[in-house]
Amino acid sequence: MSAGERRRALALLAAAVFIVAPAVTSAYLTLGTTVNGRSVTTRWTPPIKYFVTNRSVDGVTANQLQTVVAQSFGTWAAVPTANTSATFTGFTNAEPVRDDGATVIGFQAHPELDRTLGVTTFTLDRTTGALVEADIFLNSLFDWSTAANGETNRFDVQSIVTHELGHLLGLGHSLLGETEIRPTGGRRVLGKSSVMFPIAYAVGTTQDRFLHDDDKAALSVTYPTPQFLQNTGSVSGRVTLDGAGIFGAHVVAFNTKTQELVGGFSLNANGEFAIDGLTPGIYVLRVEPLDDADVSSFFDGDARVELGFKATFHSKLVTVPYGGFGESVEIKVTRK
Ligand SMILES: [Zn+2]
Repeated sequence: MSAGERRRALALLAAAVFIVAPAVTSAYLTLGTTVNGRSVTTRWTPPIKYFVTNRSVDGVTANQLQTVVAQSFGTWAAVPTANTSATFTGFTNAEPVRDDGATVIGFQAHPELDRTLGVTTFTLDRTTGALVEADIFLNSLFDWSTAANGETNRFDVQSIVTHELGHLLGLGHSLLGETEIRPTGGRRVLGKSSVMFPIAYAVGTTQDRFLHDDDKAALSVTYPTPQFLQNTGSVSGRVTLDGAGIFGAHVVAFNTKTQELVGGFSLNANGEFAIDGLTPGIYVLRVEPLDDADVSSFFDGDARVELGFKATFHSKLVTVPYGGFGESVEIKVTRK
């Protein structure tokens, strides 16, 4: 495979320590862990303090990287329904590696990861589940750019950093994207309704600098403002196949008035799902199998994700109330 082809369809790998607790029944995939037998959402106590590596790569200086990282943090911090903030501490010669107590963002060469643009790793406080450190590397195997409108044949640093910062803040992947299989291997993105979709746009594209409703909802559920909790509601229920619950079904809620599109998954063997942070109103629910990205981008390798069913619309419209849950729905799907 030529380098040119290799560079087009790439997975954004989450980390080795990327924990998605299947017992958590909240929306999307936020990071979770188990503390004393209880599932907790992993999150920071803001502000997050971070360093940027003092190293330039071809096309991007350390100063340019720092400017872009600050802009991307600003993009997430600007979500009005969530409370997050981050502070640049300084440049460092330290590498973005785990367990040194410092949150470091920078370039690193990983020729062995020839489909991975960036990786975020985490360190958790095991007694509280709180995030205490995270590190991001961008793979300098690839060509990068910080040009205002992107640059042909180079990946946009701000787009990829915005995705990785979503992980750093505690978000997992979203399945709100469409892909096609490339004849030469990998997937090509046709469109995304979430920056947290695990596959990047091609080189020269800057669309992932901008958050979608799904990204904003995921962040706001993790770091909610009091108004957000009052002004949004949830939808919940089960996805069943032949009468039994199924794990890993992707549930998409579409607001018929605002066009808001937010996704979640059924996260246990009973097929239970819950999508929080929705603008109250009337929703269409659609369930589909996880077939636009690798299952391993979403769930642990040993998770038994059901893929053998047809994409299905729920037979009724669903009302999301102000605060809390409306009626529980059962969405019945049929075998492919
Ligand atoms: Zn990712």
